[in-house]
Amino acid sequence: MHLTPAILRAAYVMLDECEPFSRWNLPDADDIEFDVGKTKRDMACCHFYDQRKFRIMISQAYCGILHTLFENMAHEMIHVHIFRHPRMNRGGEHNAAWHRYADRVCKSFGFDRSRF
Ligand SMILES: [Zn+2]
Repeated sequence: MHLTPAILRAAYVMLDECEPFSRWNLPDADDIEFDVGKTKRDMACCHFYDQRKFRIMISQAYCGILHTLFENMAHEMIHVHIFRHPRMNRGGEHNAAWHRYADRVCKSFGFDRSRF
């Protein structure tokens, strides 16, 4: 499938309706910039800038099917949640808190935890 920023936004909104994301009070999709990555450098990433803005990039090259789109968006949404709670945001990008949330998210959505 051909990804667009609107498709990334729709994936974010759909996941945000589901537990556990629905309980995390994540930013509205309107407050996030969605970007389709054109290179093979990163599968996906999340940037936090100006103390309150987020940009989520999902790579077209790596996430060209619905399953990988949702899996990678969910991965980045855990980063958004942790970025917003500085007390959890210690010990590296994929710290213990991130892994606890990843366990929960993978169980909820049936994602493969070993590739998440
Ligand atoms: Zn990550």
